[in-house]
Amino acid sequence: MAVENIVIVGGGLAGAIAAKTLRTEGFAGPVVLLAEETHHPYLRPPLSKEYLLGQAQDDALPVVPAGWYAENGVELRLGSPVTSLDPAARTVGLGDGSRLEYASLLLATGSRPRAIPVPGSDLDGVGTFRTVEDSRRLRQQLDGGGQNVVMIGSGWIGMELAAAASAYGNTVTLLGLEEVPLGAAIGPELGGFFRSLHEANGVRFRLPASAAEITGRAGRVTGVVTDAGEVLPADLVVMAVGVVPEVSLAAAAGIGLHNGILADASLRTSAPGIFAAGDVANALHPFTGEHHRSEHWSNALNGGKVAARAMLGQDAVLDTVPYFYTDQFAVSMEYSGFPTLITGPPTIRGSLEAREFLAFWQRDGRVVAGMSVNWPRSDKPQKMIKSFITSKSALRPDVLADPAVPLDQLLPAA
Ligand SMILES: Cc1cc2nc3c(=O)[nH]c(=O)nc-3n(C[C@H](O)[C@H](O)[C@H](O)COP(=O)(O)OP(=O)(O)OC[C@H]3O[C@@H](n4cnc5c(N)ncnc54)[C@H](O)[C@@H]3O)c2cc1C
Repeated sequence: MAVENIVIVGGGLAGAIAAKTLRTEGFAGPVVLLAEETHHPYLRPPLSKEYLLGQAQDDALPVVPAGWYAENGVELRLGSPVTSLDPAARTVGLGDGSRLEYASLLLATGSRPRAIPVPGSDLDGVGTFRTVEDSRRLRQQLDGGGQNVVMIGSGWIGMELAAAASAYGNTVTLLGLEEVPLGAAIGPELGGFFRSLHEANGVRFRLPASAAEITGRAGRVTGVVTDAGEVLPADLVVMAVGVVPEVSLAAAAGIGLHNGILADASLRTSAPGIFAAGDVANALHPFTGEHHRSEHWSNALNGGKVAARAMLGQDAVLDTVPYFYTDQFAVSMEYSGFPTLITGPPTIRGSLEAREFLAFWQRDGRVVAGMSVNWPRSDKPQKMIKSFITSKSALRPDVLADPAVPLDQLLPAA
């Protein structure tokens, strides 16, 4: 069936890239991109890194230049949250009561930061972190240093925000439920590496610990009381305790859900003509045969492209190896792979002390995930890791660890 018009809900990376891909693939029909936020679609990774640190400005954020939408006939409606979805009638409803018909629909509604129901979380100076406004506000608050900052959450965003807050000269204490920061993501050894990095830069940890209460005076935060009864003075508190996929439209419309919107490898949902991409999609991955929901930049980028091509009837599947990166203090880390396939601790090539190493995780002798930390780009470490994973060849840990064996010699002959 020829697609007559396409509606995209959500003006994040997945939604904007889908619009761009529709045009680069030659689709000339109407495309409407409905965005709840009032900014042109923007990238979030810089918000907790170089943008927060003042090393990048507004021009580093847009997914595509602001003029691209009009120039390419994409109707971008900013500040237009979709309030309802009727899959049988193939319409979406907007806040002003109007309805919009679609032939194909992409749900790219992303995720929302989780808040913790702790007393005092509504005080001034306490917040979550997701948007450009959050980053601008926090930058202003951190600038000048000398404040007590309590970060709640020991995942990637909490650690990045702690690094930025500390770099501004603030006193930072991080609370988390894990024994080791990032432990759930990369295990105790490498989580310990990031903890040492932060401690060397003055960040203090309380792990495992949770916030029992946030205290205040005259409506403004003054401290955090931990579950162990310790009182931490605080001028600012950021809750970085994860996100929840924004599935409310899909849920009300009866679309299949499980940890996000269930989708096949072409990002089709259970409803005809409706696709899902980015943080909100829990899509079947051909490599593992399992559903994966990823909260990372590359998944939104690749998912937006695949959904657009699939909406045009092309044979497109999201089969890329998941990838993400982080920058904290002087450490740049990149990671590719399938964490759910990991069965044991990593093999390290290089030196944690020197902060320059590769880590390989294996399953039945095959590499299923790998990380590079400050590793020379000339070695193309991420390309190698992805090739190890997709080749499915068995590799001996002692050989993976041996710096005398060039990485490219470990690849199977083409
Ligand atoms: C601070 C921060 C730092 C990050 N750093 C990294 C990193 O270093 N590396 C990495 O790989 N990933 C990183 N990520 C994750 C990455 O940014 C996300 O995976 C990516 O933004 C997901 O894109 P998305 O388009 O799926 O969703 P989103 O970016 O969440 O966009 C979804 C959009 O849909 C809108 N929306 C929701 N419901 C509706 C509705 N009903 N109607 C209209 N619009 C709606 C939302 O307002 C939002 O603008 C970071 C995320 C954050 C927040």
